[in-house]
Amino acid sequence: MDTDLRKLAGHLRDHGLHVTFSGAGHTLQTANPLHEALTEEIATADGQYVTSFGHEIGEGGRERACAERIAHILAIPATDGTADPAAAAPHDPAQYRRCEVCHEMGADVITRMFVADTGGDHTSYAHSSCAGVITP
Ligand SMILES: [Zn+2]
Repeated sequence: MDTDLRKLAGHLRDHGLHVTFSGAGHTLQTANPLHEALTEEIATADGQYVTSFGHEIGEGGRERACAERIAHILAIPATDGTADPAAAAPHDPAQYRRCEVCHEMGADVITRMFVADTGGDHTSYAHSSCAGVITP
């Protein structure tokens, strides 16, 4: 067996994760200390690290990369300084909507919704500040 749970545990601790062993040391429990609901159980199978859901994390000997993947699953930001919480946030669809009044992007209110007999639809948007000038 070339998998090394203890080496993996060391890398996980480097990411700030809590690590405990169970199953006579054959299973590792890791947790995000800031979110106790975020835990993952890591076991070894055929030289691979796998989660309790059967996801293959990676192969033995690549503990550092495996730890990074596990940390990602448990919502620990990357430690290389490139993590941007805003990048992970869902994009606001309004930024892609053109205002029918001022023709700038970022329209956030629906002014008109047209549904064709064919099932196609067209929706018009405006900024909430612009929508007031529209007379139906
Ligand atoms: Zn506008």
